[in-house]
Amino acid sequence: MDAAEFRRRGKEMVDYVADYLENIEKRPVYPDLEPGYLRSLIPNEAPLEPESYEDIIKDVERVIMPGVTHWHSPYFFAYFPAASSYPAMVADMLCGAIGCIGFSWAASPACTELETVMLDWLGKMLQLPECFIAGTHGRGGGVIQGTASEATLMSLLAARCKAVRRVQAINAKKSESEILSKLVAYTSDQAHSSVERAALIGAVMMRKVPTDNHYAVRKEMLKKMVEEDKAAGLIPFYFCATLGTTPSCAFDHLTELGPLCNEENMWMHIDAAYAGSAFVCPEFRPLLNGVEFADSFNFNPHKWLLVNFDCSAMWVKERADIIGHWQIPLGRRFRSLKMWFVFRMYGLKGLQAHIRKQVALAKEFESLVRADKRFEICAEVVLGLVCFRLKGSNELNQELLKRITKSREIHLVPCQLSGRFVLRFAICARSTESHHIQQAWQHITQLTFEGRPLRSLNDNQSWD
Ligand code: PLP
Repeated sequence: MDAAEFRRRGKEMVDYVADYLENIEKRPVYPDLEPGYLRSLIPNEAPLEPESYEDIIKDVERVIMPGVTHWHSPYFFAYFPAASSYPAMVADMLCGAIGCIGFSWAASPACTELETVMLDWLGKMLQLPECFIAGTHGRGGGVIQGTASEATLMSLLAARCKAVRRVQAINAKKSESEILSKLVAYTSDQAHSSVERAALIGAVMMRKVPTDNHYAVRKEMLKKMVEEDKAAGLIPFYFCATLGTTPSCAFDHLTELGPLCNEENMWMHIDAAYAGSAFVCPEFRPLLNGVEFADSFNFNPHKWLLVNFDCSAMWVKERADIIGHWQIPLGRRFRSLKMWFVFRMYGLKGLQAHIRKQVALAKEFESLVRADKRFEICAEVVLGLVCFRLKGSNELNQELLKRITKSREIHLVPCQLSGRFVLRFAICARSTESHHIQQAWQHITQLTFEGRPLRSLNDNQSWD
């Protein structure tokens, strides 16, 4: 492909992408395939001779599209959103073209400097305390990670290093391995699995803190565990708080937990992977109160802030703490270009409008569920996630989800809350509108109560 063909094919691809996204709701949101479907559709080896572009493009529809779960369909309500917008996609093209590996300032000054400035812009949109903003003289600052999992790992490694240095400053004879065997980290029993994995990789103990009735960590519980561990000769050194847990979007109580972590010399990291984007709206910003006590904070603009994957924003109060652990890979893509394009083309007001619209859609779905007394809401709806279930047994709800998945008209995933099987309905696609929500609800109730009944359901009986 030479430059002339690239111009032609590139323009065709832009048309293909626009057509795909404009017509995405006509495709079944979830593929109808068995695992291993793809191998039989393509050769076992790479071609010896070059193939034509036309043949490759034909295979996109033949081989790839049938196996795509369409995350940007307005009928996709699973997991948490994957952000997508045209400005981010265009910027990603430019990132690919520049193709620099920005591992140092000299390796590409614009890549290094734009990232720092974009993290300052974003930090200011979130009203992060001044100490997290790099500016020209600040000791804190931000960095783009690929994922929230990496940010958690980086923070844990930095905290581990700091704790070892602190103990050795008091007792120089203590070996690093002796100290490491005593370090203990904490997180919520609702935290994402990546937090536990960070402790596994960091080779430190991690204890899960039981949560309250709202699935949030409270100070008393953490304090009790820390005291027990100290009495047993262990060294508490790290707490990962979650703002917006994966199962139910619960919020740990930072204003209680932060001072405790500070008193106990424990690094507090905040994982706000999904919910963080909402803090650009002043009405949701109070959920971040207490961030001033944290050592590091992270969320994924690639979840909910219209910046396509991958773009996970992480800030630290003291860059010096994390300098040896900025990131896992050496190479860095020019990911800040996506932020720059998105922030300028939407403006803060556009980003706020996107969040508000999606929260309103979640509230609309919540009211539909509440109006039907055969269903129940299982956790407070704060942002764009609604946890709900049929009043009745886990088996009943499992059967309902099976029917939903099999229908391929909408896509949801479940979670467990207090041992109960719960359906999660997350507002995901940028193109989701009120009529999609209404249709999704109609579909759910039809699958539940029409055709072959799940069981003999009626308004008056308990279905357990
Ligand atoms: N933390 C929370 C609270 C999440 O909900 C998720 C994913 O949904 C993650 C971490 C993992 O995110 P990532 O894929 O960016 O590592």
